[in-house]
Amino acid sequence: MNGSASNAARPAGTHQGTHARRCSVAVAAPARPGVADHVAVNALFAKLAPYATGEPNDQPFACMIATLCAGGGALPDWLGLDPAAFGCLLEHHFSGFRLDSPPCPGRMPDPARNDERRELVELMLMDKAGDSPSEVWMAHVVAAGCMGSDHLWQDLGLWRRADLTALMRRNFPALAARNVKDMKWKRFLYKQLCEAEGIYVCRAPSCEVCTDYHACFGPEY
Ligand code: SF4
Repeated sequence: MNGSASNAARPAGTHQGTHARRCSVAVAAPARPGVADHVAVNALFAKLAPYATGEPNDQPFACMIATLCAGGGALPDWLGLDPAAFGCLLEHHFSGFRLDSPPCPGRMPDPARNDERRELVELMLMDKAGDSPSEVWMAHVVAAGCMGSDHLWQDLGLWRRADLTALMRRNFPALAARNVKDMKWKRFLYKQLCEAEGIYVCRAPSCEVCTDYHACFGPEY
């Protein structure tokens, strides 16, 4: 059993430029910042929005970047990407935008969990939609969020669970389609890893009669 298997049962700037793909309406207004300093989150989100290039991942990445820069969520520095990849992401989704300071609240990824992150990335990329290079960044960011201890949408710095469900269905459609019972996403991903290795940690014959039902399927807020 490797790192992933052992975790299976656990819940574990402001100018308006002229970029051709820019589409300010692509980013919707936030509903729930999810961190104490929601004023700072909303302010950065509002700065990012006019630079959005019109891709569906603009909105979730704007939420994640704004939340991380305000010290919320659980993502490591640079959204868990290397700085060069973060720069590419920023230019791809918010062309011409420059952050006032690096998105680095001082959180380092745990090197002891590198294998676990890599397996999660591989799981997602196996079923990526193939519509955008953004899917690769998203896989790495979602895997980094899985290292947090809260609900995945909260650890990612999103503002509602529905945004996580939407991005999973959009970026990794075949994988997301297997979550037929709307299982909590972090639990679902680890369960996929276990099943791929032939490891079955569920002790009940079915979810409906399992005492862990609410841990796997309960509300996430
Ligand atoms: S609720 Fe279902 S998936 Fe979760 S531990 Fe029980 S049997 Fe397994």
